[in-house]
Amino acid sequence: MLRGKRAIVTGSTSGIGQGIAAALAAEGCDVVLNGFGDAQAIERLRAGLAERHGVGAHYIAADMVKPAEIRALVKSAAERMGGVDILVNNAGIQHVAPIVDFPEERWDAVIAINLSAAFHATKAALPLMTAQGWGRIINIASAHGLVASGEKAAYVAAKHGLVGLTKVAAIETANQGITCNAICPGWVLTPLVAQQIEARARAQGIAVEQAREDLVREKQPMLDYTTPEKIGALALFLCGEAASTITGAALSIDGGWVAQ
Ligand code: NAD
Repeated sequence: MLRGKRAIVTGSTSGIGQGIAAALAAEGCDVVLNGFGDAQAIERLRAGLAERHGVGAHYIAADMVKPAEIRALVKSAAERMGGVDILVNNAGIQHVAPIVDFPEERWDAVIAINLSAAFHATKAALPLMTAQGWGRIINIASAHGLVASGEKAAYVAAKHGLVGLTKVAAIETANQGITCNAICPGWVLTPLVAQQIEARARAQGIAVEQAREDLVREKQPMLDYTTPEKIGALALFLCGEAASTITGAALSIDGGWVAQ
């Protein structure tokens, strides 16, 4: 379905981004991977996608805190793949603390990676998409882009901002063959959430298994974690023809979290 299309997925060396990159590659899309991690593991991931799906798979190590590196990522991705059709702004970090204890440096980092990086990447990719009259921008926001929780000031602010950025990009590109949407997952079992589960188990002196169950029960009516594969399938749907008039939307995939 996406043979010949070319995608950048930020933060795709792990978790949801990896799931999305795999889903795109499985449909024949060339992909640029990005994110931190062990060099050998990243190379295995890259080579695996290329071999399994017969697509071009590249890795570009831009730090999403740095606007110049983000611009260089988009430029170099366009050079290596011959263009950019799909941009998935997925890289993200979390920090959990009450506002009065929230380290300024963590605030800046969360806003930079979860929000500003999407602006810089979108700004760099849009001229390419506009020139070819086709593009898909998918921003991985969160249930926390729509509702708040305590102790996540920077994350909630960044994700609400990302949903806003999504709407503006959708309006500005509405008649250019481009769509821009946000995906708002609830709990997904990835290393980002595993950290929170372990911290909870330590703080409460309970088993990790119990903490995993408690975390989901606290927010979601449905007690299942979403998987990166399911987020990948939703991203794929947004790239398809059936979704060509879905733009500016914030699509929940959250076990009923924000329905409450
Ligand atoms: P993860 O920790 O498994 O993966 C995060 C990815 O971002 C990794 O590849 C990491 O290397 C990369 N990254 C982090 N900082 C970076 C930087 N400065 N430059 C480049 N890459 C960087 O996390 P995840 O759970 O897969 O989260 C992916 C996205 O999904 C995030 O935006 C997160 O906020 C969002 N999200 C996650 C959940 C969840 O429950 N896991 C829920 C809602 C939204």
